[in-house]
Amino acid sequence: MDNQSSNFIRDIIIKDLESGKRNEVVTRFPPEPNGYLHIGHAKSIFLNFSLADEFKGKTNLRFDDTNPLKEDVEFVNSIKEDVKWLGYEWEGLFFASDYFEEMYNRAVLLIKNGLAYVDDLSADEIRSLRGTLTEPGQESPYRNRSVDENLDLFERMRAGEFGNGEKVLRAKIDMKSPNINLRDPVIYRISHTTHHNTGDKWCIYPMYAFAHPIEDAIEGVTHSICTIEFEDQRPLYNWVVEKCEMESQPQQIEFGRLNITNTVMSKRKLKQLVEEGYVDGWDDPRMPTISGLRRKGFTPEAIRNFIGETGVSKGSGAVDEQMLEHFVREDLKLKAPRTMGVLKPLKVVITNYPEGQVEWLDAEINPENPDMGIRQIPFSREIYIEQDDFMENPPSKYFRLFPGNEVRLKHAYFIKCEDVIKDEEGNVVELHCTYDPETKSGSGFTGRKVKGTIHWVEATNAVAAEFRLYEPLILDETPEDGDDEGKTFLDHVNPNSLEVQNGFIEPNMKDVKGQDKFQFFRHGYFNADPKNTASGPIVFNRIVSLKSSFKL
Ligand code: ATP
Ligand code: MG
Repeated sequence: MDNQSSNFIRDIIIKDLESGKRNEVVTRFPPEPNGYLHIGHAKSIFLNFSLADEFKGKTNLRFDDTNPLKEDVEFVNSIKEDVKWLGYEWEGLFFASDYFEEMYNRAVLLIKNGLAYVDDLSADEIRSLRGTLTEPGQESPYRNRSVDENLDLFERMRAGEFGNGEKVLRAKIDMKSPNINLRDPVIYRISHTTHHNTGDKWCIYPMYAFAHPIEDAIEGVTHSICTIEFEDQRPLYNWVVEKCEMESQPQQIEFGRLNITNTVMSKRKLKQLVEEGYVDGWDDPRMPTISGLRRKGFTPEAIRNFIGETGVSKGSGAVDEQMLEHFVREDLKLKAPRTMGVLKPLKVVITNYPEGQVEWLDAEINPENPDMGIRQIPFSREIYIEQDDFMENPPSKYFRLFPGNEVRLKHAYFIKCEDVIKDEEGNVVELHCTYDPETKSGSGFTGRKVKGTIHWVEATNAVAAEFRLYEPLILDETPEDGDDEGKTFLDHVNPNSLEVQNGFIEPNMKDVKGQDKFQFFRHGYFNADPKNTASGPIVFNRIVSLKSSFKL
């Protein structure tokens, strides 16, 4: 499997296997289907699957669908697609909602053993009696109901006799516990809501803290890996496993969340960006979602290598987004064909080239990977170059085209700028150049040297293309809500995160398919947009530019 730097979770697993505490490794990736997966989830996927794989264990994909209000099959389907695309195969595919009956029975067991009670207090009242970090909580007046009364009320909750919020089931643990999570946490609530999987069968739903350990135990999960914010819940997790008399004893292990600079990493915030129109859907290439990264052109290999490099710790500092870009460059370097594309075209007429003539020049598809062979590109009297590769009054050290200067056209000839054609407003609309047939690329010409090499596309055969260039979505490196001025992350959204250019590409590119990736000379790596249609220009998303200051 992928490279993986040493991590403390693996050390725990090795110890458990050596000591005989465990004789197998079973993990699970447990997303809630309330949004699309982001690259933070990829870290959890990577850890769960690669750790189990390393010890010949297995990993389930389990949808933690205990909150019907926010969940949907659209999300279930996208999550399955993303996990597969990342390159992982799950052992079992489960839904927490398939275990509702069993969870109910375990709750009844708690009641019978005097370990759970039905409470009539409202959510606000429960909160106000819960105490604080320094003050103990106070017991609810309903805490000492008899077992029979609790059994009867819980059954009637299930039967739908009560409205939302009228009653809850609470674990009876310790209102004075220094760990607030153990102060009689709510384990069931009433919600008259249709569930994406169980329909209207249930109107009571288990809370995450109660449901999750039971789900893990039912599936025989040995190492239940989760993010650090659940650390304080671990005693409750263990309490549930023990008091519900689960046969299997999963063990919760927490690690630090993955965060990346200049983006947000929570489904709630990503959903807000989508719903409030800051981006064009969950798969907008600016999103840190798996589907967004895929559409931008990132590869599963690059994402996995990146995650492996981030390591595993309890801390969760933000990783520089440039590190992710580094890994996609590395992955595409040998795979992506080279090509030329002009983003902002300026027409050049080569006045001494015969009219009507087209010659086909050989060009390497990938000089770093000669096995990819040769492509042919046309050359004629009319070409496009980049507007930025010409300056009428250049500063010193400008080695590209200016009046009287000579440059090399990549794969073709030297050309010299003879004349600048302008429109009535004085804008440069065309250049007249001459070429020197002696200087043909590959001919071994050594007569003189030029300092600039620019790219170009032959004009009469060129194919229209739209180039989408992306900048970070968020301008703050580590955006946080509620800073001094009460700003939210939305105040840091970059208004210029997308730049669109309309230009031209080589004619041999006319049949590209969505997700085909290329390195455009000097511009970087691009991905053919999967949503391209037959009509209109071919859209390319820039994955990453060529240069970076990032060093591993
Ligand atoms: P979000 O806040 O983005 O909704 P979540 O933790 O609520 O995230 P879940 O669907 O519950 O999302 O997550 C599935 C698994 O992925 C959990 O085990 C969770 O801990 C893990 N996970 C979520 N975000 C990250 C992250 N940024 N880094 C590492 N693991 C993560
Ligand atoms: Mg969640």
